[in-house]
Amino acid sequence: MEIPDVQGFRPHYDFIRAIKPISSSFAGALEVDLIRKERKDENAPSVIDLIEEFKEHYRMQQASPTTTANHSAFATLQNDSLVSPIKTCLCGEEHLFRECQYLIESLRPHGWVPDKKIQQQIDEKLMRYERLAVAVEKVQKEAS
Ligand SMILES: [Zn+2]
Repeated sequence: MEIPDVQGFRPHYDFIRAIKPISSSFAGALEVDLIRKERKDENAPSVIDLIEEFKEHYRMQQASPTTTANHSAFATLQNDSLVSPIKTCLCGEEHLFRECQYLIESLRPHGWVPDKKIQQQIDEKLMRYERLAVAVEKVQKEAS
């Protein structure tokens, strides 16, 4: 899977944030490495590679008797949007489509009023990008 270049190091820092509760040492080392790369204007490594490396690290940690790894956090990580190239929602917020009040009606609190401008933006994007509309529809079906 390709992560678009335009995202730069953003997904990587999201990844670090996600793994910090599981392994602060790995997250810390990775963070230093990324900061260094970013400062030198080097290309961001593949997030998929990082996930693989972390899994390897995690497995080794699991094998050691002193491990305190948090299983649920790791499960969350595996299902995280990191494996998807879409990080910013249609509404401009950083969450998954299925967490979006604009897209998923059942999430809306009582009396929720959409921002007209944002709603318009979303409608336009959905009209313009068919694949996006299909993805949103799928999420909406899953949520209902
Ligand atoms: Zn949203």
